[in-house]
Amino acid sequence: MLTQSKIKEELKPVFKQLRTPTIMHCYEEEANRARSESWTYEAYLHQVLSLESETRTTNRIVGLLKASRLPLEKTLDTFDLNRLPLKLRQQVKVLTDGSFLDRRENVLAFGNPGSGKTHLVCAIGHELINQGRKVLFKSCNMLVQELLIAKRDLLLKKFLKRLSAYDVLIIDDLGYVQQSREEMEVLFTLLAQRYERGSIMLTSNLPFSKWEQIFKDPMTTAAAIDRLVHHSLILEMNLKSYRLEAAKKQKTQE
Ligand code: ADP
Ligand code: MG
Repeated sequence: MLTQSKIKEELKPVFKQLRTPTIMHCYEEEANRARSESWTYEAYLHQVLSLESETRTTNRIVGLLKASRLPLEKTLDTFDLNRLPLKLRQQVKVLTDGSFLDRRENVLAFGNPGSGKTHLVCAIGHELINQGRKVLFKSCNMLVQELLIAKRDLLLKKFLKRLSAYDVLIIDDLGYVQQSREEMEVLFTLLAQRYERGSIMLTSNLPFSKWEQIFKDPMTTAAAIDRLVHHSLILEMNLKSYRLEAAKKQKTQE
């Protein structure tokens, strides 16, 4: 029979090979517990494998969150859902189950500044990450600049491929900054490339009727809207500005 010290010595490289660091750290302690509590062999195996699996899930979510660039504080916990009309609340509930990503559907959030568009799409993003989905958050402006740089360096295809690894791309504030034709062209390329291949969540202060300001010519505007809308859910967020309301509340309290 193998001695305890022999087992320990031989297991170490096996844990490394199998990449099970959690079991490596906990198996002795859990074995002591198992002996003192008279677990079955199966119960012991279940315990150490569950610990490994739980740690992996947590680590994966931490990694996804870091890669997503989502603002950490904009979660559902910090979002007051009661400010939303019932229909919107129901839509949010549906979105947080994540199945729209499997259908490659888009989410388009419209509304005046301060209505909570950015916070809400980020909060949904956090929920999706908790389910193990890959999310990337970018302001539209930043995304366009990165696309342009990639194009200049003849790396556009590669950059688009990298973006296609995400289940959902959150593009925040389309149309907030007036962009040049060249800037809009790369954005259009991205929308076209992602069409029916991956979801986009987009926020904008501008309704479709004003998108010609963004995409410059009517044809590109129509084509962009068409691709985004084809499989999509629209969140109408024409609510009073949260900031304004919070400021007013504070004033009346003073
Ligand atoms: P928008 O993107 O529509 O301009 P934001 O999402 O940036 O609006 O919201 C403006 C500010 O108000 C942010 O600080 C946000 O966290 C807060 N806010 C908006 N709506 C809510 C809400 N329902 N609950 C809590 N905070 C909110
Ligand atoms: Mg915003």
